[in-house]
Amino acid sequence: MATILVTGGAGYIGSHTCIALLAADYEVIVLDNLSNSSPEALQRVQKIAGKSLQFIEGDIRDSRVLDQIFAEYAIDAVIHFAGLKAVGESQQIPLTYFDHNISGSINLVQAMQRAGVFRLVFSSSATVYGDAHPSPLNENMPTAMPNNNYGYTKLVVEQMLEKLAASDERWSFALLRYFNPVGAHPTGHIGEDPQGIPNNLMPYITQVAVGKREKLSIFGNDYDTPDGTGVRDYIHVVDLANAHVCALKNRLQQQGCRAWNIGTGRGISVLEIKNSFEQINGVTIAFEFAPRRAGDIATCFADNARAIAELGWQPQYQLEDMLKHSWNWQKQNPQGYR
Ligand code: NAD
Ligand code: UDP
Repeated sequence: MATILVTGGAGYIGSHTCIALLAADYEVIVLDNLSNSSPEALQRVQKIAGKSLQFIEGDIRDSRVLDQIFAEYAIDAVIHFAGLKAVGESQQIPLTYFDHNISGSINLVQAMQRAGVFRLVFSSSATVYGDAHPSPLNENMPTAMPNNNYGYTKLVVEQMLEKLAASDERWSFALLRYFNPVGAHPTGHIGEDPQGIPNNLMPYITQVAVGKREKLSIFGNDYDTPDGTGVRDYIHVVDLANAHVCALKNRLQQQGCRAWNIGTGRGISVLEIKNSFEQINGVTIAFEFAPRRAGDIATCFADNARAIAELGWQPQYQLEDMLKHSWNWQKQNPQGYR
């Protein structure tokens, strides 16, 4: 079976993807600098999968480490999660984001070229559509300049990979445009473990539920949406992880650069998330309405037809599972991996 290098494999989406890869009998090599993750996540991944993986602590910006990995292991393809992802922080320290997300990706692809490895699945985001189009968003719509530096790094790397694939037919890139990943492994043993105050809705809600935060601020209730709160396409992290295995299989057989939306195709409002979380999990989430958050758009959900048709992928989990599993993880691990 093929051997896959997973950068950022100790992180939230990476750890779930490692389980999916091990379950599909791939050999897994993880490279992670642990800047936003814990080695404990990888211990639990191996326990859940009942199989082992190789972990190398290191940075994608370090060519020496990359060359060593490619020399030591016969890597067939790379899944590239490593990077920084906090939108607000990317406005404060743009150069750091450009360094990890753009220079880091260039460094990785250069090392791949030196090693003769030409297949890569890239973690992109729905943010590359900007706010130029009405939802559902499909891959034929032109990308637009995202309104924050994090999104900009995703667009730059997408465009760079497209140009690279056009320059040399050996390259094969999957650009997976994630919508809103939520949920946790059904065992409750791995999940999202944000450091400090969560930026995202679901971990904020679970931290209110577990008593770590006082109340949820709902950013804006005057959007042009059915209940006035923002609408997003929430996708279970296990479904997202499985999409990587499907994209990998596709890339092991095909050349070129291709983008796929990974979402459920269903838009859900912040209030619906809060209310359903309360109902399904039998807890109360204190909340207040707060001003809109800078840079947020009213509505964003996917047209996922291309991924379903071309990758043989299909989301399996319902909203109820996403909410149950998020809570299950938080309840079992009130301090995350610490
Ligand atoms: P995460 O922070 O949990 O995982 C990223 C991992 O990369 C972490 O383990 C971190 O330690 C590691 N890392 C960061 N910089 C590194 C570097 N220079 N070298 C080596 N390792 C490094 O984030 P996640 O939610 O799992 O996201 C994974 C990828 O998906 C990221 O590229 C992110 O931008 C992208 N993405 C995430 C979301 C989301 O909502 N979670 C949405 C769209 C896209
Ligand atoms: N949101 C909110 N309160 C929070 C965090 C998020 O009301 O504490 C809203 C946000 O305005 C958006 C939705 O929840 O409408 C999803 O936000 P998140 O940051 O999780 O993901 P995004 O869609 O911004 O990538």
